[in-house]
Amino acid sequence: MKNNKLLLEIKNLRTYFYTQKGVVKAVDDLDLSLEKGKTLCIVGESGCGKSVTSLSIMQLIQSPPGKIVSGTIKLNGENLLDLSENEMRKIRGNKISMIFQEPMTSLNPVFRIGDQISEVYIVHHKLNKAEALQKSIEMLKLVGIPSPEKRVFDYPHQLSGGMRQRVMIAMSLASPNPLLLLADEPTTALDVTIQAQILQLMNELKERIGMSIILITHDMNVVSQMADQVIVMYAGKKIEEANVIDLFENPLHPYTNGLLNSIPSNKKYRNRKRLETIRGTVPNLLHIGKGCPFANRCDYAEDICEKEFPPDKYFENNHLVRCHFVDKIIKGRE
Ligand code: SF4
Repeated sequence: MKNNKLLLEIKNLRTYFYTQKGVVKAVDDLDLSLEKGKTLCIVGESGCGKSVTSLSIMQLIQSPPGKIVSGTIKLNGENLLDLSENEMRKIRGNKISMIFQEPMTSLNPVFRIGDQISEVYIVHHKLNKAEALQKSIEMLKLVGIPSPEKRVFDYPHQLSGGMRQRVMIAMSLASPNPLLLLADEPTTALDVTIQAQILQLMNELKERIGMSIILITHDMNVVSQMADQVIVMYAGKKIEEANVIDLFENPLHPYTNGLLNSIPSNKKYRNRKRLETIRGTVPNLLHIGKGCPFANRCDYAEDICEKEFPPDKYFENNHLVRCHFVDKIIKGRE
């Protein structure tokens, strides 16, 4: 039966990079779905495939060396991978917008911020310059920039990091039809207080406009504040997926457990003197074998882990985990 609430559905996505040293399987057989008005967080360490997933959705993978080798990415039922570059250009910055960790790299330093927001209104809404400027001021006001009538004439370097991120959010919302916001580590470069403000702003706008958000982060505190659904990625693979409450209350994969145990504010570990860490590092994606990619860091690993990738196993509330020994791990906790 068709789910009318579904906005985005990705199936069997594989995005590979063909380098001189070999093939890097940055995203390997990823499925995900996102309902309208919901926030999906994708978490994992650097190099796990989170950012490549969002760049694949936008079809901004640099080719060569990158290539989407298989899969479908359906937005409201339309496979984006079937669209021409021209058709895709109409979707970027319109139905799907993206904000990055450092907004300075996305804003053009030689244009006033008002001109950059106005461009969205001129191109997508066909407004004239004066009307577009007025709309830009309204947008800056909406994202909480003080004195927007003056700041609209500022250049990016005249704004703080938090203000620049607000401008990026304003630009993404200026589109006629914002359905999906892809936010790639949007608050990592910001102070904690500004980070909280930006997250709150994203949540408020999501409620008001009804758009969906894919938030990419390695910060589990951010996940706990923002997510409805969470996907944990490791070495290009999805290894666990659950709603945010189940994931935090009952993390099943040893890697997810490790991520949660390394949060300083995690109340389970508040009385400990030392913070837990996950030993080792993410493996080189050039040398991933057939087995579980977490095997070299996992305390539960056995021979089969090196040889076979674990099958899908579902628990209550569609909680997915991919680990050969998940039952044993759950038993050990009882
Ligand atoms: Fe650890 Fe094996 Fe489970 Fe991978 S499959 S997480 S190596 S126990």
